[in-house]
Amino acid sequence: MSLIAFIGLGNMGGPMALNLLKAGHQLQVYDLSAAALETAKAAGASVAASPAQAVANAGIVISMLPASRHVESLYLGASANEQGLLQHIKPGTLVIDCSTIAPASSRKVATAAQALDIVFIDAPVSGGTAGAAAGTLSFIVGGDAGAFERAKPVLEKMGKNLFHAGAVGAGQVAKIANNMLLAIHMAGTAEALALGVANGLDPKVLSEIMLKSSGRNWSLEVYNPWPGVQDGVPASRGYSGGFGSALMLKDLGLAAEASIASGSAIPLGELARNLYALHSASSGTLDFSSIVDLYRRER
Ligand code: NAD
Repeated sequence: MSLIAFIGLGNMGGPMALNLLKAGHQLQVYDLSAAALETAKAAGASVAASPAQAVANAGIVISMLPASRHVESLYLGASANEQGLLQHIKPGTLVIDCSTIAPASSRKVATAAQALDIVFIDAPVSGGTAGAAAGTLSFIVGGDAGAFERAKPVLEKMGKNLFHAGAVGAGQVAKIANNMLLAIHMAGTAEALALGVANGLDPKVLSEIMLKSSGRNWSLEVYNPWPGVQDGVPASRGYSGGFGSALMLKDLGLAAEASIASGSAIPLGELARNLYALHSASSGTLDFSSIVDLYRRER
């Protein structure tokens, strides 16, 4: 098994890296957070002092960073006179970026990689932190068919559904469309629960009713936003961990950019983006299901 460099050990990258270690891979890891590095080290990873040290001798590089600017500055350099990580990656290496970023950023890094004989694919994920921990993520890959086949054995250690969406950037387009829908049904679920509670219903009872009725959706099923309704979800631990509201706002911004680029109308997506902009101003680090706080009146 080839040596893997893993960069970005946050809420998602941390558990994904642990699953690769469990599957017997040797990992060289890098993150800005000392605590994240400590956890990976305790599970058997070698901690690198820099991204360049992490990719030394690696046959595969995986990154899981917050946004486009982090991915571009990592691989291409933060400024014209700074070398990016691509300059330290050996030719022939497969680079798998799992971050959710702009399709144009994926294509920009892929083009620079190709010039150095490095294969770059975008492979954003769906399934949340629970899916990352359980190794049941969906990977939505953009890249050529050969690169997708090459990535499969590694992605299978972290996920159970692997999709090939198309050329580089296509994984991001699919992920952005999915997350726009997720934001809409999370906000809608929060709104429906708040309406019921304000009119005297128990949120647990209402959730059970809607789960067996036509309002059923993923947010209601596995990610209920109302505190105390479901165990093991961010709402039942003060909205810590999970998927930050600021990251959801970032994804809705990517949807808005894509809609402008293609002349598509996304009225509900834009409404959701505005709700998350209002909410993230004060609660950006809280899980995105905390959007329910915009609606709750009983506290
Ligand atoms: P996070 O903020 O928890 O983690 C990001 C990590 O990257 C942090 O540990 C940070 O220290 C590290 N980092 C930032 N800049 C770095 C750099 N230059 N070098 C090394 N490390 C750096 O974010 P997350 O929730 O893990 O999300 C990561 C990506 O996955 C985002 O693009 C997000 O949209 C996407 N995503 C998240 C979820 C979720 O449920 N959290 C689900 C699907 C997709």
